[in-house]
Amino acid sequence: MTVQDMPRVRLHDPFWNAYRQLIREVVIPYQWEALNDRVDAAEPSHAIENFRIAAGQRQGEHHGMVFQDSDVTKWLEAVAYQLAQEADPALEATADEVISLIGAAQQPDGYLNTYFTVKAPMERWTNLAECHELYCAGHLIEAAVAYYQSTGKVALLNIARRLTDHIDQVFGPGPSQLPGYPGHPEIELALMRLYEVTGEPRYLALGRYFIEQRGQQPHYYDTEYEGRGRTFYWPSHGPAWMIKDKAYSQAHAPILKQDKAVGHAVRLLYLYTGVAHLAQLTGDAEQAAACRRIWDNLTQRQLYVTGGVGAQSYGESLTCDFDLPSDTAYAETCASVALVMFARRMLDLSPEGRYADVLERALYNTVLAGMALDGRHFFYVNPLEVHPATLAGSHRYDHVHAVRQRWFGCACCPPNIARLLGSLEDYVYLQREDSLYVHLYVGGDLNFIMAGKRWLLSQRSDYPWNGRIDFELSGTPQGGIFTLALRLPDWCPAPSVCINDEAVDLSSRVSDGYCHLHREWRTGDRVVLDLPMPVQRLRAHAEVRQLAGKVALQRGPLVYCLEQVDNGPALHNLSLPPNAEFHTMNGRAPLPQIVQLEAEGQRWNVVLATSPDQALYRHDAAPPKASPQRLTFIPYFAWANRGEGEMRVWVDEG
Ligand SMILES: [Zn+2]
Repeated sequence: MTVQDMPRVRLHDPFWNAYRQLIREVVIPYQWEALNDRVDAAEPSHAIENFRIAAGQRQGEHHGMVFQDSDVTKWLEAVAYQLAQEADPALEATADEVISLIGAAQQPDGYLNTYFTVKAPMERWTNLAECHELYCAGHLIEAAVAYYQSTGKVALLNIARRLTDHIDQVFGPGPSQLPGYPGHPEIELALMRLYEVTGEPRYLALGRYFIEQRGQQPHYYDTEYEGRGRTFYWPSHGPAWMIKDKAYSQAHAPILKQDKAVGHAVRLLYLYTGVAHLAQLTGDAEQAAACRRIWDNLTQRQLYVTGGVGAQSYGESLTCDFDLPSDTAYAETCASVALVMFARRMLDLSPEGRYADVLERALYNTVLAGMALDGRHFFYVNPLEVHPATLAGSHRYDHVHAVRQRWFGCACCPPNIARLLGSLEDYVYLQREDSLYVHLYVGGDLNFIMAGKRWLLSQRSDYPWNGRIDFELSGTPQGGIFTLALRLPDWCPAPSVCINDEAVDLSSRVSDGYCHLHREWRTGDRVVLDLPMPVQRLRAHAEVRQLAGKVALQRGPLVYCLEQVDNGPALHNLSLPPNAEFHTMNGRAPLPQIVQLEAEGQRWNVVLATSPDQALYRHDAAPPKASPQRLTFIPYFAWANRGEGEMRVWVDEG
């Protein structure tokens, strides 16, 4: 597929425009300053300086994480999506300079990684289990693909191809090759993308090798560990823990034998994004089934209601079925970005609404919560309940912040948000044979070709605040027969569709979460999809012991939460009666144009809680009394934008 052949989506949507403006005007410039160590309040990144040193342009030492290079390439990928949206000659010139710097740091044999080039040149490819060389290569490849697709320029693509050709020589089943694969998956999904733009079958085969070699015996992590004299890089959880705990990086068994979502959440989701893409490209049914097994376990047993993944700080990882604590949740922003990517590849494999439902849940809740409304502050960890006064006193919460931070020493999350929101175009539609699927309700125009005829589909709405979505088709005057498949979200109890003002009987048209409108379409045809958005009470599966007796509120795709600034302190003393009615209200400044919810709730034990001589425990206390209190809920994504305070998603019902 050439750049010119790509389906063209142009988004212009009131909700997303605001975020994309933030990415353009704040996030990308701010991250550029951070990468160049020009942000006073943040830890120095040294990421650009590392490339200068590796290129021989400066003297000095490598600083930062072993995967620091990926901060630069993820920024470049976000820039690529920005340039696809609109021309920006100054930004493009800066990106081109970075690309030539990266090229200057590439070694004569194609190798490219500043940590090993500067700090440990003799240790290349000796610690795949822990040291992220292939991970960094993956992010460089992704940036190269995106930059080529948006600008048509091949400089970074050529750098990526030289690096990949080098990797292809080093790894494989041959007698002089290493039978290894990355401890942190990422290159697998990147190689699928590289294969799609270049058509080079070696890249597909290399990605497949990494996926199929994973977890085989004798175990590669052990072989390389012994081979390098039992050294290890990460000591945080004991000697060589990352090598020994093979489930941490989903290398405990071959992919086809894995049946549970385990280990480091981001690794899991990047890995299976690559597996799903491979299965789609090759038609491998066993790999597709493996993806479905992991998907089902993850989304039906281990997913937070906000679309967050990873219940524990230890190893930034999943735990076990039905373990979903709200306050100690990890739910890394990157994990939800990766879940969106995995969901998209599952939709490519099989367009079923359940995948898009999860995609939407992760995108509108945890991913957006990862960034402040000012675009300058970020959450790495996304709890569903925060009590700031306790954070400082308990190491159980060492990973939790009550307000977003400027920049992290490990800065994986901010550029991941930027690259996902910048490439939202790739997640809205899917074209398959004679069907055009609409996964997400994001305003904009889609140019597509169906049966040789050019069409333009415009989509307009005030989503996620309002569920009416207007579509209009224009194209060839003769018209054409195809299926427009509109997703019916799982949260909507009573969707309806009109075509040219006539109601459509949905009873025979709904399957797999989509309404299939098969007909002869003509220029000027209008479709109105109406998705009523009543406030819904979500209750958790009875096995989730942390959520017994609690409810969370959802309206449309948005999960809501209570904040102290609206409801006073001690949110744990608030409850929501089962029969409470909800009212929707426009949000107040400094929040943007959000819809907030209000309901008549209750506050328990107000007198006892404020009494200074109250004993910790009493046998003579009267049963608690409730007093009425109006409760205000705001969308979870907008929390912690008005200073520090308590927050909770799940509230007692009663
Ligand atoms: Zn992250």
